[in-house]
Parts: sequence; structure tokens; C-alpha cells
Amino acid sequence: MAFTNENTVAKYKGREEEFHQEFEKALEKVRLGEEYPILIGGEEVRTGKTFEVRSPIDTSLVIGRFQMADENSVDKAFRVAREAYREWRLTSWRERVELAKRTAELMRRRKFELAATITLENGKNRYEAVGEVDEAIDYFEYYAYILQLNRGFSRDMESRMYKNEHSFSVMKPYGAWAVIAPFNFPLAITTTMSLGAVITGNTAVVKPSSDTPLSAFNLVKIMLEAGFPAGVINYVTGSGKDIADLMLSRADGLAFTGSKDVGHSLAKRLIEKDPRPIVMELGGKNPVVVTDKADLDKATEGVYRGAFGFGGQKCSATSRVFVFESVHDRFVEKLVNKVKEIKVGDPRKREVFLGPIINKGAVEKYKKFVDEAVKNGGKIAVGGKVIDEDRGYYVEPTVITGLPYEHWMWKTELFVPILLVGKVKTLEEAVRMANDVEYGLTAGIFSEDKKEVEYFFDNIEAGVVYANRTVGATTGAMPGVQPFGGWKHSGWTGKNAGGPYYLLSFLREQALTYYD
Ligand code: GLU
Repeated sequence: MAFTNENTVAKYKGREEEFHQEFEKALEKVRLGEEYPILIGGEEVRTGKTFEVRSPIDTSLVIGRFQMADENSVDKAFRVAREAYREWRLTSWRERVELAKRTAELMRRRKFELAATITLENGKNRYEAVGEVDEAIDYFEYYAYILQLNRGFSRDMESRMYKNEHSFSVMKPYGAWAVIAPFNFPLAITTTMSLGAVITGNTAVVKPSSDTPLSAFNLVKIMLEAGFPAGVINYVTGSGKDIADLMLSRADGLAFTGSKDVGHSLAKRLIEKDPRPIVMELGGKNPVVVTDKADLDKATEGVYRGAFGFGGQKCSATSRVFVFESVHDRFVEKLVNKVKEIKVGDPRKREVFLGPIINKGAVEKYKKFVDEAVKNGGKIAVGGKVIDEDRGYYVEPTVITGLPYEHWMWKTELFVPILLVGKVKTLEEAVRMANDVEYGLTAGIFSEDKKEVEYFFDNIEAGVVYANRTVGATTGAMPGVQPFGGWKHSGWTGKNAGGPYYLLSFLREQALTYYD
């Protein structure tokens, strides 16, 4: 069975053995069980209270001990970030572009070690982990390119009224941003948000997920090493419950990726006091439509990757499939056969496609969702069982058919490897159902009929839309290729990460005019 990150597979074609050996060497090199500090102004800070992070692959592996930030440390981080902002905001975009390019270079040299850390931290398979490091590198290079292309986003404005009038539109930063990052892409998503802030002249205080704080530590260290000035990028760890409010009350802007409920609650708290900018990428309930004009092999390939790549723990994961009645049973049969082939297990092994899910809470959710579906008329076409919840967190990839459309599970993000498949009669009905959720992140269609694809593209409400994507139906966007972000409750600014307009969300416009 192949892996989900086809880009990585393609990149190492013919060099598979080298790829595996590099990764395996890197796995050995990652030092486990160390204590990590908070990083403020380039300095290591210890708060005297730490928390332990264990690997979901095997809970006897201690990833490390991390600081519990407190009011003092959060306060200091923002004071230092705001202080650094005073000079950083005045640096030229050229300088910031150079630093981003240098960081990309350093990351490239350490690609396998960074990838191995991701695998150990969140259980992602090696192809996806290396793909994630490539994505982070792409962000550094792509945002550098965009800033350069737009010459820092400043423009001469034409003056029509007076000969001696000179006017400019200048895009300026806001200040010190809080960056709150998720566990599922602990390097790439942390990069897009942190870099979005700092490459545009803001500074940042980054708080990673407490499940995966090591990748963000690596990121901040590498950026400092590349030459981003101390204080421009800072790193704090601790439970969101304890420190989110402390961060929000001090931040000049918020960049957040995570669930819709947490995002909306943070946003409300942030703007209660002052209107401040928000960049958010939230959840999804991403639909795929399979019509009677679909190539069912392509649809099967795309859907199993989209639904079960990294255990459905991507905001972009395929979670609802609407299949035309006439091809429903054939599609389900093919999908079930494919899912049965998926190798679940320790992702440090070469052949494993699906590693553990992130933690005990996720396993509990998985069990609850499976029970709930079965009790309410859903039929488990494949999967449904917990494999191990003691040593590591392993569950079977699960396909559920026949769950009545009124059930809440059709509208709620699950973030575990459970896929719902239902029947529809027409494309119009499928699109109506697909749009009938509060989310609008990604969506896909499988059809060989151009007219159907066109109809889908014209009417679907989502920020990222694919047709016939065998490499992952609704997943796997690449910076500079598929700008990634959500509509409706799945996003905030309407400007997607890895796209030409993303950086504008971190900037405010100033009109400058002088007369000579
Ligand atoms: N950008 C990733 C993709 O396209 C998903 C990111 C996320 O889960 O937030 O699959």
C-alpha cells in the first residue's frame, strides 16, 4: 500500500532506500526525554513547573519536559516582542526576505531530523512527516517570493489633483502577535502563521499545542539561528486554558489554527476589549461527491487517502461522501477493500500507513462516535474497533454507511478516522447537502464529466476545491499551488495560507502624502 504524501513519493522515486535510511538514521538522532525551556528574546527561560509530553506511538517514550508558562513569562514574552517590534517594523522587506530564504536553507539541511521529530510527536507516517517539512520550507520560500514580487506591498499612488503632491499606499505591521498552533501540522502550520507575522514586520509569541511542542521549539531555534533577531520570534508553552487569556490580553493580533469552537471563543475574547486583527483557519466537515460519471477507482483512491491520511486529523480531511445511488454499492465495496489493506501501527515502520491518533481523548471520542452511529442506524462497512489504547492510541479506519442524514454527526467535525458515506440522487442534491453545514473548508468531486465539475466549482461553498484528486480527495494542499483556507465558519479573513494574499492579513494600510 502506498502512502498519502504522493509528492514525497514522487520526489524520492528511484531513491526509496536512501529515503528510508535517512529517515531511520534521523529517528535515532532525535534526543528524547530532555527538558526544554521557553524562549524569550533568544534567551532560555524556566518557570520551575514543567509538563511531560509522551509519544502517542508508545506512551513509554517521553518526548520531553516543557515549561508551564505563567503570567510572568507570558508578560515578559510580549514585552520583549513589543520592544523588538519597534525596530523590526522598520527593517526593509529585502532583509526579511533574505532571512526567510536562509531559514529555508537551514531547514532543508535538517529535513529528516525535523520529520522524525514530527513522527515521534504526533504519529504521522514518514512520507507525510517529510512532506510536512517540505511544506514548511515552501512557506519560507513562497512568502519570501510574494513579498519580493510585491516589493513589500507598497505602491506609488497617482496624484491627479496637484502637481506637487506625492502619495503612497504603504502596508505596515500591527505589533506583537499571539500565534496559537495545533498538533496536526506542528511544524508547517506553526510556520505559516509565525512567518506570516514576522516576514511582514510584526513580531510573534508562539504557543504550540501541548501535545506537540517540540517541532515549534525546533522552528523557533532555526529561525533564530538563521538570523531573525532575538525578540522577533518567541516561544512559550503551557496549557491553553491557563495562558490563552494572558496572551490575548497582551497581543496586537491573533493567528490561530484549530477547532471552530476554540477559535470563535478566542476571537470573541480578543475583540471584546479592542478591535484587533485575526487570522484563523478552523475546522471542516469536508464533502466529496461521487457521481455516476466518476471513475470509481480514482474516487476510491482519493477518498481513502483523504479520509484516513493521518487518521482524519486534518482540518481538510474528507469526512462525508455523497454517492449517486446507482454507483453507491460498488463504490462502497471498492472503498472497503482498499481500507482493509491499510496498515495500522507504529509509524516508525516503513510499511505503516496509519499511525496512532493523538491522545486518549481522541480514542474516547472515536469510541463514542462509532457507538452513536451504530445506535442511530449507521452500519459499519469496515473498521470500528480500538486496537490499542494503553501502550499507544491505535484505532481502525472506519467507514459508516446508512446513517440518517438528520443525525448530528453529518454536520460535526470528528477529527478521527471515521468517514460517513450516504446516497444522493442528483448533483444538485449532493451540492445542497455538501453546503448545508456551517463549515466551508475543502471539498471534492469525482466525475469524468466536465459539465458536472463546472457545476460543482460554481456552486460549492468552500475555500479549497478539487476535482478528481486521487492523491487525497480534499487534502494535501501545497503552498503556492493550492492556497489553503476556509469559508464560512472554517476561516476568518478569506485569504488562504500559501496563497498570494495571505500576508496582507498581517498588514494594515497607510496612505502617505507629501507636497514639495
Ligand atoms: N493544509 C493541509 C491539507 O491541505 C491541512 C491543514 C490542516 O489540517 O489544517 O491537507
